[in-house]
Amino acid sequence: MSLHVKFWGVRGSIACPSPNHVVYGGNTSCVQVTLDDHTIIFDAGTGIRGLGHEILRRDIRRSSLMLTHTHWDHINGFPFFAPAFQANRHFRIYAGHLQEMGGIYHVLANQMANPTFPVPLDALQANLEFIDFTQGETLEPEPGVLVRTAPLRHPNGATGYRIDYKGASVCYVTDTEHIPGQPDQTILDLIAGADLVIYDCTYTDSEFPAKVGWGHSTWQEGVRLCRQANAKRLAIFHHDPDHDDQFMERLEEEARTLWSGALVARDNLELTLA
Ligand SMILES: [Zn+2]
Ligand SMILES: [Zn+2]
Repeated sequence: MSLHVKFWGVRGSIACPSPNHVVYGGNTSCVQVTLDDHTIIFDAGTGIRGLGHEILRRDIRRSSLMLTHTHWDHINGFPFFAPAFQANRHFRIYAGHLQEMGGIYHVLANQMANPTFPVPLDALQANLEFIDFTQGETLEPEPGVLVRTAPLRHPNGATGYRIDYKGASVCYVTDTEHIPGQPDQTILDLIAGADLVIYDCTYTDSEFPAKVGWGHSTWQEGVRLCRQANAKRLAIFHHDPDHDDQFMERLEEEARTLWSGALVARDNLELTLA
């Protein structure tokens, strides 16, 4: 059994390519989880463009794309996801926050509509399945791959995910805002004992008071949650574009000192969990 995680985009809010963002990367959220022959993709930020090329190189014919939500930084790479333009491929696209908003198909179709994009969603050749679920449901996107879902605290809604596969587990919990001093019980339940928790660490605790209501959390809260839930590792994720490489290097040192289970995600980082 193998469980492999690759980060294709680790930023929040907006892509930020610049000479000061080469170490940690500038692409927005996209994470690939490979479980034996199954491929799960979390989010379709600008990082999904690189993943698309990898899918073509390795000729992966089917995978499931699970969206936390549909803010731009989580979907605007989708129109540049090359495998979706090929007829011999099959993608299941999941979202859990849109049942009362017309569903995921309509949101992605609007993103690709005249006059904001020249190629309509319906012109894509791949077999695309659009699946709207209710947060809290457990999904089985691929045989034997169980995915638990939970609502997150975020403007317009967002969904947290936990994959369990043959005894290994990885959680993807972004975008979400915490309440200081009140650990989010829904998240604690979702991440309990997990091997890896990828968490919204947009801010630091000292920046947080000025950002209340913006829908994001801090790396220190990520450490607190993981420790309380007995999770093994934390991947600090969804970095603020204003945090350049220098800032992130200091943050990484501080985080590792606070908890040896913490690591900072960067574009192209690969982790093998099993
Ligand atoms: Zn975001
Ligand atoms: Zn968001």
